[in-house]
Amino acid sequence: MSLAEKLAEERRARLAAERLLELKQAELSAANRKLGRHALALTKQIGQTQAEVATVRDENEKVKSDLNTANEKIETAERRLWHSIQAFQDGFAFFDSDGTLIGANTAYLNIFDGLEEVTPGISYMRILQLLTDEGLINTGDMSPQDWQTMMTERWQLPAPEPVDIQLWDERYLRLMDQRGHGGDVVSLALDITSTVRYEKELRDSRARAEAANRAKSAFLANMSHEIRTPMNGVVGMAELLSDTELDEEQRLYANTIKNSGEALLVIINDVLDYSKIEADKLELHPEPFDLERSLHEVVMLLQPSARDKGLALLVDYDLFLPTKFVGDPGRIRQVLTNLAGNAVKFTKEGHVTLRVTGISSPDDMQCAVHVTIEDTGIGIPEEKIEHIFGEFNQVEDERNRKFEGTGLGLAISKRLIEMMGGEIWVDSEEGKGSCFGFRLPLPMERVPEQPAPQLPSTLRHVLLVDDVPLNCEILQKHLLMLGIQVSTADSAAAALAAMRPEINLIISSHSLPALDGVQLAKDLKAGPWSGVPVLLLNSGPQAANDPEIRQLVNGVLQNPAPRDDLFRQLAKLGTSPAGTEAETETET
Ligand code: ADP
Repeated sequence: MSLAEKLAEERRARLAAERLLELKQAELSAANRKLGRHALALTKQIGQTQAEVATVRDENEKVKSDLNTANEKIETAERRLWHSIQAFQDGFAFFDSDGTLIGANTAYLNIFDGLEEVTPGISYMRILQLLTDEGLINTGDMSPQDWQTMMTERWQLPAPEPVDIQLWDERYLRLMDQRGHGGDVVSLALDITSTVRYEKELRDSRARAEAANRAKSAFLANMSHEIRTPMNGVVGMAELLSDTELDEEQRLYANTIKNSGEALLVIINDVLDYSKIEADKLELHPEPFDLERSLHEVVMLLQPSARDKGLALLVDYDLFLPTKFVGDPGRIRQVLTNLAGNAVKFTKEGHVTLRVTGISSPDDMQCAVHVTIEDTGIGIPEEKIEHIFGEFNQVEDERNRKFEGTGLGLAISKRLIEMMGGEIWVDSEEGKGSCFGFRLPLPMERVPEQPAPQLPSTLRHVLLVDDVPLNCEILQKHLLMLGIQVSTADSAAAALAAMRPEINLIISSHSLPALDGVQLAKDLKAGPWSGVPVLLLNSGPQAANDPEIRQLVNGVLQNPAPRDDLFRQLAKLGTSPAGTEAETETET
């Protein structure tokens, strides 16, 4: 090979080597660039991690410091709590769910009079045993064993009731235990010695006061009884004296003696009753009686004063309520007379209505009788209502002071009703009226079942004529219950205008505005309705015995009429044409 060829070959080899070198250098710098990028990313990552580590470290520091602060607070709170518990004059202890003492204040530990065994760790059962064994407690009538059993059973209850114990040194403690979450128990031992002593003193003085009061009442009862006898003599003699020949002046004196004597007797009777009740000397005498009759007797008694004042005195006795009960009729009448008498006394115009309803249970023959006496009188101011049943309590004010009375009637009525196992109340609105009521449990009298009233089959439609709407309402209610249709009219003229062929009976009040009931009967007789029977409702005795009236109408009913009388009159209608045998039902 020539030199030139050799040189050319060498040059080619050199050029190839140089190209390879360039290639490798390019690869190297690409690798370097990649390395540089990685190194940069790594540095960034390290920086981030370092920052996170620093944050976590800071947070740890903060948590640690917070924890320290919280611990300090807990310790302070615990110290304060314990100081407060120690400062209690009463015993305080707490037990875990197994009944082991966890802690107790000095007052609690003092109960055990220095017994060293009573420290945290002792069980509740052992404490009970120490109390009896060491004679620290007075178990009264119970044996120590029974007392421990009673206290153990109580302790195991989910919510033990407080219990009072007496210690050896006469102190009284009230133990109050409360179970908390997880079964822990907090125990309080309250010193109630002074309260117990105070209660005992109160009981003693109350017993002494009651004995003194009974003695006073017994004295009053005897005195009133003693005064009543000669007083009856004075009134009786004054009455006899009035019947003799006297001049005007002498008659006035005799009447004054009689009236004053009677007024005094009313007062003495009230005082006698009240003192008898107070001295526990009043006895009830239950016997079979008719409540509806008693009610009507009271109404009859009050009817003259009500009539004088122009008051309607009404009775609404539940149609389906029995009337025969066993009770003390005298005392029930006394209460009714007092309540209804007050109602008439304190009412100037309007009405006084006595209503009787009740719930009877035929199984045990008992009935809860409910009586109300409603008036449209002066009413009672709200602030006085509460005291109205107290003794000698009258609503003191000028408009009321003109009424006579002892202020004992309601107090006696309340006591009587309570003695009979009932209750009495009042609702009232000043200026509008009052409603006194009482509820009495009364045994029903066993009477043969009364057949349902047999009414004439022709009796289907009654025209009631009365100018007192409430009176119409009550009678209408009863007639509707008997299946009879009712129309009403408030005057004789309205009644004549309301007459229709389907009306088979007219029940009319005697006293009506303008034409009265008798005149209405006359007009009916003279006209086309002469065949329609008429019953007259009469609130006074005058019509009952008047032959002319009896001739004119088919019956005269006392108003308000007991249901039996009304039924009897209705039943008789089928057989008694007008003017032949008019019946009167006034014997109540
Ligand atoms: P009194 O003998 O005075 O009537 P009560 O004990 O029967 O004694 O009544 C006490 C007081 O209650 C009455 O004086 C009167 O002020 C008030 N009072 C009782 N009933 C009524 C009533 N129906 N309406 C208004 N006030 C009444």
